[in-house]
Amino acid sequence: MQQFLNYIAGEHRPARAGGWLDSVNPATGDVWAQVPDSDVDDLEDAVRSARAAYDDSDWRTVPMAVRAARLRSWADAVEASADWLGEIETRDNGRPLNETQHTQIPGAAMQMRYLAGLAETIVGDTIDVRPSAFAYTVWEPVGVCALIIPWNGPLPLFFAKATAALAAGNAIIVKPAQQASAGILAATRLFDELDIPPGMVQVVSGRGSTVGDAISSHRGIGKISFTGSTETGRRIIDRAAGNVKNLLLELGGKSPNIVFADADLDRAAAGASAGIFTPNAGQACVAGSRILVEESVYDDFVERLRVRAGGIQVGDPLDPGTGMGPIATAGQFKAVQSYVELGRSEGASLVTGGRVGADVVSSTSLEHGYFVEPTLFATRDNSLRVSQEEIFGPVAVAIPFRSEDEAIMIANDTPYGLAAGLWTGDVGRAHRLARRLDAGSVWVNTYKALHWAVPFGGHKESGTGGTANGPTALREWMDAKSVVLDLS
Ligand code: NAP
Ligand code: MG
Repeated sequence: MQQFLNYIAGEHRPARAGGWLDSVNPATGDVWAQVPDSDVDDLEDAVRSARAAYDDSDWRTVPMAVRAARLRSWADAVEASADWLGEIETRDNGRPLNETQHTQIPGAAMQMRYLAGLAETIVGDTIDVRPSAFAYTVWEPVGVCALIIPWNGPLPLFFAKATAALAAGNAIIVKPAQQASAGILAATRLFDELDIPPGMVQVVSGRGSTVGDAISSHRGIGKISFTGSTETGRRIIDRAAGNVKNLLLELGGKSPNIVFADADLDRAAAGASAGIFTPNAGQACVAGSRILVEESVYDDFVERLRVRAGGIQVGDPLDPGTGMGPIATAGQFKAVQSYVELGRSEGASLVTGGRVGADVVSSTSLEHGYFVEPTLFATRDNSLRVSQEEIFGPVAVAIPFRSEDEAIMIANDTPYGLAAGLWTGDVGRAHRLARRLDAGSVWVNTYKALHWAVPFGGHKESGTGGTANGPTALREWMDAKSVVLDLS
């Protein structure tokens, strides 16, 4: 049994009180590792250490080029660790190894280099106030920031958020998800060889209800960047009221993927299938879980999706041939199953999928794994719970529409506003509808096209507090100060 340690004040150490949490391999259902079950005392150590590093280390005083170079060295170390880190992540959360090793970690290293470069581009403005006075703005780090990370993509989220926060000059405290902390805890070993002062980064594993709650209300933490459910986001807002924390919340979604009859239907079917099923079994905040299809091609398109879903190889995430892995946690596995039941009982018609566990995978070593078949429901009703609620599993609904207006009406009829896909051969329609969709990201004739240089953030209940990524990404981690000078 492997045990992974917290990282506080430059030391790898267990929780003060000695507690551990089991981490399950979702492909087998076995406990494969343990992570510290930290409590408020461990968090206090982390806050003290972060504050001391922020105040006393050279991180804020070295030239920006030096800070950027140190972060680039971290990116190089991350890239060189893709094999072993990817394997830990795959064992811990079930995301196929092809993705973790070959896409996510190398992609994170590229993103880290981009963010490191941004450190050298931090500039303020000068503003003429009147002939005898002018103002200038300075961007300053917030100070001590916390990152609360979900289980669906721990390593890439950690690398991206941590690099941005550090590039901006902050010290950070990271709380990974208890069900998938191993990758992030393991990755802290890289700091032993790097020129990043001890205390600039701490990782404290533990429960959301313990460490997470304590972070939210801690007066020594100036900002929280959170990715996870809208429900937990609301709780963080409540608890963060004490010191009016700066919050960036990246929450859930129920994103529409809208297919017009004039689209390349083959490409649209491939994109819609990858938008919800592969590789991560729908466990993506931007999952295209509502597939809206123009009535005239609805039956044809649903059939194409059925065939594609049936062709996805569900199985061992460590096998390079696997197209879709398991659900990451036991609780989420149960939740997804109950949504499949709910879909049936609400009257949606099951086009394909719905089977789980040993009915889906052949190998006996995987019979206790949290596997769910790619599942598609057909319905005309966007008010069903399976049409409205974020399932966070490989379950989509296909809904027909007759006109642009109706497509937009259905697409926007959700409390969420994270992303939307549009598949059409009509360039005018593409631009017209992109403007009318209430979503932070719109992808035309593609889907899930996330890129670090492109701003990302949710509208409505999908998020608040600004956008991540893009050329101004570091501003999320900084406060503006304006200085006014009277020259007379
Ligand atoms: P969650 O509760 O939002 O978990 C995300 C992170 O928040 C984890 O690190 C979690 O820690 C932490 N957390 C939990 N309670 C907290 C609290 N009171 N204060 C501060 N932090 C807290 O999500 P989940 O329960 O794992 O998953 C449930 C649903 O969330 C999913 O069905 C899905 O809809 C959504 N989700 C969305 C995303 C996304 O990318 N938008 C990602 C994951 C989940 P612990 O896990 O240690 O408790
Ligand atoms: Mg796990």
